[in-house]
Amino acid sequence: MESKHYNDLSIMGCTVPTRVNRKSKSDATQVNINGIHIGGSEIIVIAGPCAVENREQLLETAKQVSSAGANILRGGAFKPRTSPYTFQGLGEEGLKYLAEARKETGLPVVTEAMDTRQMDMVCKYTDIVQIGSRNMHNYPLLKEAGRCKKPVLFKRGMMATVEEYLMAAEYILSEGNQDVILCERGIRTFENCTRFTLDLSAVPLLKRLTHLPVIVDPSHGTGHRWMVPSMAKAAIAAGADGLMIEVHNKPLDALSDGKQSLYPEDFVQLVKDIEKIAQAIGRKIYHRKPSLV
Ligand code: PEP
Ligand code: MN
Repeated sequence: MESKHYNDLSIMGCTVPTRVNRKSKSDATQVNINGIHIGGSEIIVIAGPCAVENREQLLETAKQVSSAGANILRGGAFKPRTSPYTFQGLGEEGLKYLAEARKETGLPVVTEAMDTRQMDMVCKYTDIVQIGSRNMHNYPLLKEAGRCKKPVLFKRGMMATVEEYLMAAEYILSEGNQDVILCERGIRTFENCTRFTLDLSAVPLLKRLTHLPVIVDPSHGTGHRWMVPSMAKAAIAAGADGLMIEVHNKPLDALSDGKQSLYPEDFVQLVKDIEKIAQAIGRKIYHRKPSLV
């Protein structure tokens, strides 16, 4: 017999489980990160390198994205790499640099936990735990994220339908953690000129089906630095509550995802441009209140 948490909440032919379902909660969920509300009227911008490579690289990039107007710093300490022979991340050392960068800039940080055994350590340092695309179907990890006391940035699996994605998000909520931020980051299609196909139609769809905030990652979604600004602007126009953008102080020297990482000066321009798109749709980018710095 189907559980009552599952059965009768189909919207537009898509079965949406109870806790993530828009019908179960009329107001939109706002995830509060130290006073930054993700999912409210203001748009948040997460930026930083793909991976934390060393102290100087992270601190320099963190200062650059912070002064350009980013609200949250990203950087992977545990990296899910296609090849086992490429840079795998600095682990706890990287988490310490993230904590230091938070202190220097005042920006909250987000970083990925790839494994249940990393969850406690990651939560000790981070403000938001990221669950990556490759782990969207890792149900033990999702349950662990549901039990942790930190908000979760939950990326769509690259081969997952929206229904599968929402079922997976339900695992996190059903363990008691309501603070889930959805992130569209591109799906596999037959197209191979781009790294993935950024499914921007998922933005209005997810916003309609659920009450959770929805952000977009155009960096992994396209794989090309030059394409990131266009898709970032399109994501805001489509109604996304925020962006996650890879920025590197020296993209040509990056140990991972250099080709899709913006130069700091490109990021400065992008923030200015999305401010205009936000205004055009009656929103604005979140700016830190002086007391939080
Ligand atoms: C990332 O954001 O660091 C990352 C690895 O992205 P994804 O899980 O979407 O591939
Ligand atoms: Mn990356």
